[in-house]
Amino acid sequence: PTITDMSVFEQHESEVRSYCRNWPTVFEQARGSWLTDVHGDRYLDFFAGAGALNYGHNNPVLKQALLEYLVDDGIVHGLDMATVAKARFIETFRDNVLQPRGLDHKIQFPGPTGTNAVESALKLARKVTGRESVIGFTNAFHGMTLGSLSVTGNSMKRAGAGIPLVHATPMPFDNYLGGVVEDFTWFERVLDDSGSGLNLPAAVIVETVQGEGGVNVARPEWLRGLADLCRRHDMLLIVDDVQMGCGRTGEFFSFEEAGIVPDIITLSKSIGGYGLPLALTLIRPDLDVWTPGEHNGTFRGNNPAFVTATRALEHYWADDTFSRDIHIKGRQIEEVLTALAGRHQGLSTRGRGMVRGLVFDDATHAGKVCTRAFESGLLAETSGPSDEVVKLLPPLTISTEDLDRGLGILVDATEEVLA
Ligand code: PMP
Repeated sequence: PTITDMSVFEQHESEVRSYCRNWPTVFEQARGSWLTDVHGDRYLDFFAGAGALNYGHNNPVLKQALLEYLVDDGIVHGLDMATVAKARFIETFRDNVLQPRGLDHKIQFPGPTGTNAVESALKLARKVTGRESVIGFTNAFHGMTLGSLSVTGNSMKRAGAGIPLVHATPMPFDNYLGGVVEDFTWFERVLDDSGSGLNLPAAVIVETVQGEGGVNVARPEWLRGLADLCRRHDMLLIVDDVQMGCGRTGEFFSFEEAGIVPDIITLSKSIGGYGLPLALTLIRPDLDVWTPGEHNGTFRGNNPAFVTATRALEHYWADDTFSRDIHIKGRQIEEVLTALAGRHQGLSTRGRGMVRGLVFDDATHAGKVCTRAFESGLLAETSGPSDEVVKLLPPLTISTEDLDRGLGILVDATEEVLA
């Protein structure tokens, strides 16, 4: 029988389900920036799999590569055995991503998803330094497993698991301390406070733009200051690029604009290219002190994901055309939202490249705008500690017409809610 309503989910799926509550329809097909539900209604996707679909749904170039691979009986599950698909991915990642940026990081495949990359980064930092704790930031999000949660600055997400925050320090924007913390005075004092018996942390983990935390953008100067502080105090710098990597901010890596080189980088979400799970932990070569099998997992070798990832890197990242296109569309989004924010008290916008937040003084308004947008055929989600930010993450491949159309829906929804 055709599935036409939400009853099967309501009856049998755990209460933990989330997105299907905000977008209560059953989706069936997707192409590019559009999804279609079982009633034939179309929705423009400004969420793109929470950043996992930078190249859109069923991208035809990637689909072709995947179909050819499967028709040819290419290996699907390969543990972490040496395969041709994996070798091609490593070579293409080296040639199109690492080498042009002067990076020589080793590539670890830590498991299928973002939190696996974060876990391995935390474990490696502890092993390399022989120290235990890791500094995380207020409003940070690094994943849902216990280690990743311990550096996630969101008490609601930690509460049920009873995970204390190992360390938290303010990011340079409004936070619960009530002000803007722009410099490292406070941070530096804590690190120098040997009298209190604080053990020097192993590492600092940071998102250059906090996605789940509400599109909080760290300034390049601040990131350079952070990298410098890490160097002076002999702590490793981990950049979690799971959501902001793979072009979201305009460059392949989100830290490129700041000109810093992290010791460890985590990537996932869009690296697989087709929405297939894949994660990488990139390790400065001299820090690669893992022993064989010390961090493993059954799904480290998602070969179809290697195939689509390779094709995406070849097609989109062989030169800087795509990057320029992202910056152009990013400005298009910025212009519309800046004009909208200019018309309303208590509304502001922030972001970089093609990640943008529309920030509401009254958090209930952000939720209402997303509901209204959904009714008009646009998928957008809230983020931030009180869900006060409408976060826009359209596919990077979206056409300017579709971008305009989606922004139009968002503007109308906002005008309606704030009227
Ligand atoms: N790090 C960041 C910055 C993220 O945004 C996310 C996912 N939202 C994760 C880690 C965890 O990734 P996953 O959900 O794939 O485990």
